[in-house]
Amino acid sequence: KGAIAFRDVHFAYDPQRPILKGISFDVPAGKTVAIVGPSGAGKSTISRLLFRFYDIQQGSITIDGQDLRDVTQKSLRRAIGMVPQDTVLFNDTIAYNIRYGRPDATDSEVEQAARMAQIADFIERLPQGYKSMVGERGLKLSGGEKQRVAIARTILKSPTILILDEATSALDTATEQEIQSALDIVSKGRTTLVIAHRLSTVIGADEIIVLKDGQIVERGTHRKLLEQN
Ligand code: ADP
Ligand code: ADP
Repeated sequence: KGAIAFRDVHFAYDPQRPILKGISFDVPAGKTVAIVGPSGAGKSTISRLLFRFYDIQQGSITIDGQDLRDVTQKSLRRAIGMVPQDTVLFNDTIAYNIRYGRPDATDSEVEQAARMAQIADFIERLPQGYKSMVGERGLKLSGGEKQRVAIARTILKSPTILILDEATSALDTATEQEIQSALDIVSKGRTTLVIAHRLSTVIGADEIIVLKDGQIVERGTHRKLLEQN
């Protein structure tokens, strides 16, 4: 479920300056499509359109054949999970931060999500910068650990559609590999759109779309794109 279709989508924040200039692509249900391209190409704009933060000026976006204009923002927020580049944590335990978005989740569901994201050891701690009432100092989390909190939150939410905004790479290689394997767990069998900055992180995608200046300039598998370049 969660098949996404963009058809001749035009979008501008400011009418004088088009950002997406007629783009068409599909993310078939359960598949992973990656969008790569230089900064400013319009990649993040595509994810904002999926949440209906803005309406498009021409073309259509559908999910499972239903026009996005007929879907409420609220139900989109439920259906779409996003692992952002930077995760801001709330002033509460890591477990609370994982449960955010699914307050009904049981402790054992939270623990299982934490284990899958490999952060089970410290879910009762507070993030750094916060102090508990008993004076316990918060735990300093690395960028990678914060991202794994976001991954655990997403595993727990189990959305139909997943959007991954990949870190520009403040992460070392080992951390990046750990995160990549955690992300592979969340995205397996789920309709996934990856916003990537480098081809090397999206080797496994079913299709890679290269976006430049609001237009799709190339598309294909990782292997095909490497052969062409
Ligand atoms: P990417 O994710 O590929 O780096 P974005 O989709 O974030 O690109 O941005 C595409 C272009 O749209 C950029 O030139 C950016 O400055 C512009 N832009 C992004 N958000 C807004 C906004 N809220 N208002 C006006 N322009 C914006
Ligand atoms: P709330 O409105 O309940 O406080 P948020 O705005 O933090 O919730 O997020 C609701 C959902 O929308 C989450 O799944 C989150 O990942 C997603 N989301 C929030 N901000 C953005 C954004 N700028 N781009 C894409 N998705 C977002």
